[in-house]
Amino acid sequence: MKPRNKFQKEIAELSKQLPKITRTQIKWGYKHCVEHIGRRTAKGVISCFECGHSWTNKDMAIEECACPSCGMKLKIETTRKRTNSSYEYFCIITECKGYQVIRFFYIDYRAKVGEKAKYFHSEVIQRWIATNGKTIVMAKLRGLFGFYDTWQFCSSLEIRPDKSLYNAIPTCIYPRQKLIPEIKRSGYKGDFYELTPLDLFLYLLTENKAETLLKAGQTKSLKYFAYNQGYKNISNYWTPIKICIRNKYNINDVSLWCDYIDLLHFFGKDLHNAKYVCPADLNAEHDRYVEKKRAYIKQQQKEEDKKRALEDELLFQEMKSKFFGISFTDGQVQVRVLESVQEIMQEGDIMHHCVFTNDYHLKTDSLILSACIGEKRLETVEISLSKLQVIQSRGVCNKNTKYHNQIVGLVNKNMKQIKKRLVA
Ligand SMILES: [Zn+2]
Repeated sequence: MKPRNKFQKEIAELSKQLPKITRTQIKWGYKHCVEHIGRRTAKGVISCFECGHSWTNKDMAIEECACPSCGMKLKIETTRKRTNSSYEYFCIITECKGYQVIRFFYIDYRAKVGEKAKYFHSEVIQRWIATNGKTIVMAKLRGLFGFYDTWQFCSSLEIRPDKSLYNAIPTCIYPRQKLIPEIKRSGYKGDFYELTPLDLFLYLLTENKAETLLKAGQTKSLKYFAYNQGYKNISNYWTPIKICIRNKYNINDVSLWCDYIDLLHFFGKDLHNAKYVCPADLNAEHDRYVEKKRAYIKQQQKEEDKKRALEDELLFQEMKSKFFGISFTDGQVQVRVLESVQEIMQEGDIMHHCVFTNDYHLKTDSLILSACIGEKRLETVEISLSKLQVIQSRGVCNKNTKYHNQIVGLVNKNMKQIKKRLVA
């Protein structure tokens, strides 16, 4: 990509002025990024994958040793593998004209038993960071083919889109670093707390609270909020965080702690009070509040149901009151119209069917009646008001009783009572 704006043009120009990687730097990179292996056979012959030298050591227990020929510290592995290879990213942190620059060098390593290891390196990415947090990517062209990521080493370092393709997690970082003053005074001491250099530097430059966290040693919080930017806003937790810092309370499980603070906030607790925000046993306090919230939600639900029933009651009265008072009997079975939502709920509860939960009582076309002998409920009857017919009549758990036909017959015989109210 050709540089388009002033910022891009400036960086493209400055990039050309960066010094080449020195021999000392790349030697350090080869040594620290690559895992150097001594291949051991079952007979105790060790081959140095670094220089090709081999020797015998009968002590099969050793896990590490220095090569007697090249001096490289080797990790000893008993294996039949005759080759070893890997690729790594070596990172150099430097500064140029007020910009913080992170340079990534791709290292390709191939080794074969009995041969000197072959190394190759190429600078593939530069991340340029301005003090206001704006960044520019200079990189070689990269393509992904299947599992292989292939850099076009012959391509030039150019402005590239700011995508993960042009970011890398360094295997190791060169210890001598040049920092811009803004990073220097932020409290950064060379540790990245499992963040990438880019993520940490950007967070330190764009979030002034990051510096406070770093200087107060709240590094787990620093890592958490830098990592979860856009998802968890540190400002929402800043009051209790300041209380933690003042009380030298180290937040270890930041995710759990934030969750706990959300709960305190929900219950209107004082987030300036160390008694709440710095619990000795975070897990226990967190669980206690989770339980409290669960109980609260359950209570809410209950009240919600009650409210709904009350609202239903008004509607029900409006819709069905003209049928209230209807009841008839054949001398044995008695049938009557149910006259409130409360009654219908009870009927449903006792008969274990869904007459209430399915809102039959609010259907314009339905009328619900109950058939009993004395105190004993037999079946619940639903009538279609438009057809003046029994739609269903069901006993406990939706089963018919031996009175089923008798009940349906009795209702049909008295349908005129309902019809009369319908036209009235
Ligand atoms: Zn060696």
